[in-house]
Amino acid sequence: MIRFENVNKWFHQLHVLNDINLHVKQGEVVVICGPSGSGKSTLIRTINRLEPIQKGKVVVDGVALDDPKTNLTLLRAEVGFVFQQFNLYPHMTVLENITLAPCMVRKMPKNEAEKLARDLLAKVNIPDKAESYPSQLSGGQQQRVAIARGLAMKPKIMLFDEPTSALDPEMINEVLDVMKGLAREGMTMVCVTHEMGFAREVADRVIFMDAGRIVEENNPEAFFSNPQNERTKSFLSKIL
Ligand code: ADP
Ligand code: MG
Repeated sequence: MIRFENVNKWFHQLHVLNDINLHVKQGEVVVICGPSGSGKSTLIRTINRLEPIQKGKVVVDGVALDDPKTNLTLLRAEVGFVFQQFNLYPHMTVLENITLAPCMVRKMPKNEAEKLARDLLAKVNIPDKAESYPSQLSGGQQQRVAIARGLAMKPKIMLFDEPTSALDPEMINEVLDVMKGLAREGMTMVCVTHEMGFAREVADRVIFMDAGRIVEENNPEAFFSNPQNERTKSFLSKIL
C-alpha cells in the first residue's frame, strides 16, 4: 500500500530523511516513534506529498508520487491525515466540517454526505455534536471530529501525526480508542505517536527514527522487550 525506496530529503543543508526504505502492507498498522526533530512528521507528510522529496521513490497504492500525471487531489482523498492540531474550520459546524470534502471532491450528494457524517459521528462516539461548532467541543471531541472528517473520504490509508499530543491526559484514551477500533477493522494506518500502550496493543510494527534514519524496526513485543540499538534503548528508557 505504501512503499518508500531509498527516500532522501533535505531542508537546505539538513538531511532530514536519509535513505528511508519502508513497506506498509494493506491493513497494517505501523507506529513511528523517535526524538523530536528526527524526521517523523516529514516522513509521514511525504506519503500524501505535503512534502516533496529530492531522491528516491514513494509509491502509494500503486501510484508513484513523483509522476507528474499523479492527481494530488485524488491521492489526498485516498489518504486521510489527522494532525496534532485538529485543524477544523472554526466557522463551520461539525457536520459541515465533515461533509465539505466528500461533497466537493467526491461529488457526493449533500443528503448522502450528511447521512455518512452522522454515521461517522456515532462511530467516534459523539453522535450528538453534529450541529456544534468546534469551539464548543473539548480537544478530544475535536480530534474525533477530525478523524470522522478523514474517514468521510473513505480513504484507503489513515495517517496520524501525534494525534493525542495536544490533548489533556483524560482525553487521550477516547481518541486512542477510536484509533484502535479503526486498526481492528483493518484500516491501513501509519501513526506517529509516543503512546506505547497503543503501539503494544494494535501495532504490527514499531519503527524508531533518529536523525532522519530508520534506526530500528520490529514487532511491538520484540521492540519493547528487546530493543537492539543503543539510541532506541535510551529513548525508551526516557518515555516508558
Ligand atoms: P519530528 O516530527 O520527528 O519532530 P520533523 O520531521 O518535524 O521532526 O523535523 C525534522 C527536522 O527538519 C527538524 O530539524 C526540523 O527543524 C526540520 N524541518 C522541519 N520542517 C522544516 C521546514 N519546512 N524547513 C526547514 N526545516 C524543517
Ligand atoms: Mg513531528
